[in-house]
Amino acid sequence: MRNRISFIIALIAATLLLGCGSGESADNSLGTAEPVSAPVAIPVIKVESVPQEEPASSLIQEPEVTQESEEEAAEEPDQKYPPGYSEDVEFDPSWEYADYTVINSGSAKLYRASDNRNDVIIGVNAGHGTKGGESKKTYCHPDKTPKVTGGTTQAGAVKAPAVSGGMRFADGTTEAAVTLRMAELLRDELLADGFDVLLVRDEADEQFDNIARTVICNNVADCMISLHWDGDGLTYDKGCFYVSVPDPIKDMEPVATYWQQHDRLGQALIDGLAQSGYKINGNGHMAIDLTQMSYSTVPSVDIELGNAASPHDDATLAGMASAMVPGIREVFGLGGR
Ligand SMILES: [Zn+2]
Repeated sequence: MRNRISFIIALIAATLLLGCGSGESADNSLGTAEPVSAPVAIPVIKVESVPQEEPASSLIQEPEVTQESEEEAAEEPDQKYPPGYSEDVEFDPSWEYADYTVINSGSAKLYRASDNRNDVIIGVNAGHGTKGGESKKTYCHPDKTPKVTGGTTQAGAVKAPAVSGGMRFADGTTEAAVTLRMAELLRDELLADGFDVLLVRDEADEQFDNIARTVICNNVADCMISLHWDGDGLTYDKGCFYVSVPDPIKDMEPVATYWQQHDRLGQALIDGLAQSGYKINGNGHMAIDLTQMSYSTVPSVDIELGNAASPHDDATLAGMASAMVPGIREVFGLGGR
């Protein structure tokens, strides 16, 4: 940005000089008035985005153009993040619903795109993978009302395991291992497409319960996509679907405000998977009362990418990751690429 400022300043200076010399410039109506000094132009030019981490003060303290600041500008690194850039994100106990969490000592990782940046942060949650998560419980709903559908925890329960263990694929691989691999592949696809990615879980054991994961996405990301494979006990691949919000909790906040955005994101992902030829289960969604959506204040979806009988090799996972990106672009109004 500062290079551009210097360029524009130089351009203004050159214009003024030329104008005075030739006598043809319209600005010459100023006659012999003192030429406008270059720094005056700065406040107009400096309104441009900068990396989000940059302290606000550095935006405001645009000094007069001196030799020193020119040198600083030359030393300033490019605005883009270097490839592979990431930063740790810790849980903030002051966040809304933070009090409902019981496991929150983990550390999420925020990856920044280096090129084609669109300044949208996608929260990607690799389902399961929290040691001790099944022995602790959290409230299913922020208003502490009981669950309205079955699932890992039956309807009528007020509390559910903080993080369930997940299922095991037919070949013995754990769901938690596959969701983590899928999260990494989806991250790579999204980064290449210009999205920033918040990996809520980036290791085998992440000490965040389901509410903590949701709260982190609420506060750091622009949406939340949780990756799962269904533990339905079937021996055939039943295909992908997203978990929609059951009708009885659609008037409970924050569900009431966000459920349509959850559905829109879920449908966009399913549409992309269908268009790329992946098997879709039924109409592509199933209403289940999940903790995640009960606490989400950003577009949020749990996508089930198949079940224990589904292929889960890297090529399949990478293909599904790629298939979901166009829908995410559409949800954020970014158009096709
Ligand atoms: Zn799962």
